Parts: sequence; C-alpha cells; structure tokens
Amino acid sequence: MLTAGVIAVQGDVAEHAEAVRTAAKRHGESVDIREIREAGIVPACDLLLMPGGESTTISRHVFGEGIDAEIRDHVADGKPILATCAGLIVASSDAKDDRVSTLDILDVSVDRNAFGRQKDSFEADLDVAGLEEPFHAVFIRAPAVDGVGENVEVLATAEGRVVAVRENSVVATAFHPELTDDSRIHGLAFFQ
Ligand code: GLN
Repeated sequence: MLTAGVIAVQGDVAEHAEAVRTAAKRHGESVDIREIREAGIVPACDLLLMPGGESTTISRHVFGEGIDAEIRDHVADGKPILATCAGLIVASSDAKDDRVSTLDILDVSVDRNAFGRQKDSFEADLDVAGLEEPFHAVFIRAPAVDGVGENVEVLATAEGRVVAVRENSVVATAFHPELTDDSRIHGLAFFQ
C-alpha cells in the first residue's frame, strides 16, 4: 500500500484522489490518500499531487505552513510528484510574478496567463510522450512553460506552447488531467 498525499489548499482534491486510485489499480498497486494542509504529513507520503487553483493562494499556504521544505525534501529523495496547472506554477523555478513564491523543484519558467483572457478555457487532444493514444486535455486559465532547463523533458505542446514536462521524479501539466476519466497522466507520473 502506497501513501499518496494531495496538497489540499484548493483545487480538485477528490478528483485527483480518484485518478491516482484508478491509475494505481491499473498498475496492480493500491493507495491510501492523505490530504495535506499542514506540515508533518508529506514525509509519510510516497507520492504527492499538487492540484490547480490559484497559484498565489497555494504558494502562500504552502510556504506559510512550512510545507515547502518538506516538498523539496520529497523531490530530493527522488520521490514522485505530479503538479497541475497552478501546481505547475508553484513547482517552477520562476513564475515571473512577485506574488508567487516558487518551490524550484522543476527547472522551468512559466507564463501564468499564457493563453490569454479570450481563451479562458479550452480542450485539446494532445500527443503526450509516453502515452500511446492522445490525451484529452482540459485547460482552465492555463499557464504555459516558456523556458526549460537542460534536464527537463518536454512531454506535450498545445498551440506551439509547452504544456507538459518531466524532470526526474517531477511531472507537471498546464492542463487538468483529473477532470476526465482518463488516469493515464497519473499513471505516467507515478507508476511507469
Ligand atoms: N491562472 C491560475 C494561476 O495563475 C491557474 C489556473 C488553474 O490552476 N486552473 O494561478
């Protein structure tokens, strides 16, 4: 039994929990879900999820509660984390916005409002490295990655912009993989 921690400040906590359960089952594993709002839980987790929401709020909470150092230790130990949308912004090394403190666990810079107001939300079928069939991705006020360090692998692009990346045990998407019934991104991050 693996312990999966979901940073539960905002965002689709239940949906991520369901997706990781489904992905685990497909890979012959099972997970116990812990919701993380304070320090002390991350060290007990084998894998972590950082959902979307508002990166300013998530960042303020994670740093304010001292969860930030625990997440950095988790990654330094080589344990996996999946960060989505605002989670990607918080995981990055540069959000180019003073209101967002970043964890610097993923060597990328991000453009918080990459797709602009006129395109608040959209959906697209993406080719994702490591997945055999396209993934139906839901974007909601999504960021894009606009600079990648040398160890960062680009997993997917949309409209010419980088929207999914991996660096060692860190996988991040600009879209919301928890909003469809397809748990393959969770599988990619944690079980393959
Ligand atoms: N635009 C949001 C931010 O900058 C992220 C949106 C999301 O997580 N769906 O924090």
